[in-house]
Amino acid sequence: MTSFYNRNRYIEDMQRMTGKEGSVGIVYLDVNGLKDINDRYGHAFGDKILTECAERMKQVFQEGSFYRVGGDEFVIICHDVPKERFCQRVNELRAAFKRDALCKAAIGSQWTEKLVDVGQVVANADAQMYEDKKEFYRNNPASKRYRHHSDELLYLTDPEILRQEISRNQFVVYLQPKISSADRTAVGAEALIRYQSRDGSLVLPGNFLPLLEESRTVSQIDFFVFEFICSKIKAWGREGKKGFPVSVNFSRYSLTQPHFIEHLLSICDKYRISPTCLEIEITETVRNGNDIDICVLIESLREAGFIVTIDDFGTEYANLALLSAVEFDVLKLDKSMVDDVVSNPKAQAIVSSIVDMGQKMGIQIVAEGIETEEQLEVLRTCGVELAQGFLFSKPISVDEYEKRYLDK
Ligand code: C2E
Ligand code: MG
Ligand code: MG
Repeated sequence: MTSFYNRNRYIEDMQRMTGKEGSVGIVYLDVNGLKDINDRYGHAFGDKILTECAERMKQVFQEGSFYRVGGDEFVIICHDVPKERFCQRVNELRAAFKRDALCKAAIGSQWTEKLVDVGQVVANADAQMYEDKKEFYRNNPASKRYRHHSDELLYLTDPEILRQEISRNQFVVYLQPKISSADRTAVGAEALIRYQSRDGSLVLPGNFLPLLEESRTVSQIDFFVFEFICSKIKAWGREGKKGFPVSVNFSRYSLTQPHFIEHLLSICDKYRISPTCLEIEITETVRNGNDIDICVLIESLREAGFIVTIDDFGTEYANLALLSAVEFDVLKLDKSMVDDVVSNPKAQAIVSSIVDMGQKMGIQIVAEGIETEEQLEVLRTCGVELAQGFLFSKPISVDEYEKRYLDK
């Protein structure tokens, strides 16, 4: 698409450069807000933006090797270009992106007279790019969702820092029970991630997940949660407690990871638990973007034995089109539908029809975000069998969950 070299070529060329004489200048560029652009204007437009970025880089630099190393990450390597000229071009490139109202980019650069460790030069350019990126998150009024982030959260966009925070247990998995509406017993749970900030407060996912999605590091969280849940299910099994199924949320970016399902299966294998203990929650439109075919993915997940849930049903992301397009196991009615259900007879009629349809198609219906007895009553009358919401329990720590729902 961009006529740039791909990531494989980049890795090969980097290896070839080791021990080579002469100076080298490296530019690391990451397009800002591409996710927003894709969401707002569609993938075709996002692709156009990427092509334009690539052209701009070629125009400014002219000489050098150009690589697209990730979805929206680019690297330029310039051999034997004097420092002044290299820096001047980097400045030109920065200025060109500043002038552009829509397409912004974070840019890091590094020039070295004598190449010793090319990996280090790239790492420095990359680190500088992240500083630039944080500046964007801090200042860009177009991306409202980043505006209130403290620096502490912005640091999480750096994959290395995120990894450290995960291994230092700064991320904590909470559980919210899924309740049978008939007898109010727990029949499973949903895993929900929280971040323990330095001041001791728990930060909710809405404050950091969009950032991690934007910086494409969110899979680290999703796989961490998944593995943590597998380890818990294993431990509960050993203690004779039945704690499953537990559902884990996956962002679109995680679903597009190569060998996604194999990765999940290998984690199940490691803990010797069956995929049938795990529910994969997906919030998705049936849109065949250029990265994955969501229907094929859902089918393969089910073939592998996982339970597949469509989350947030009734919002713009998950809607009726999905139902005829693909088979899945569980449909989660979004809180926005539940909110309406007591006062709005039309909402009740819709819920009843969805329940009927679910029965015909062998799909389980869960209602989420139930806060009042009235809502529960109406939903029960409509035939909803599974319920989640503050009425029963907020998401709680695993210790508390075990005490309240498994130690019986
Ligand atoms: P979700 O999957 O739709 O999860 C339900 C959200 O509604 C949770 O918010 C939960 O705390 C909240 N909730 C449940 N019952 C009630 C209620 O009765 N009233 C109200 N007002 N809220 C209720 P939370 O934990 O802040 O999570 C927000 C979203 O973040 C989740 O929405 C999910 O999309 C995402 N998320 C959470 N954990 C993960 C994760 O590990 N990976 C990914 N990719 N996304 C996650
Ligand atoms: Mg969910
Ligand atoms: Mg939901």
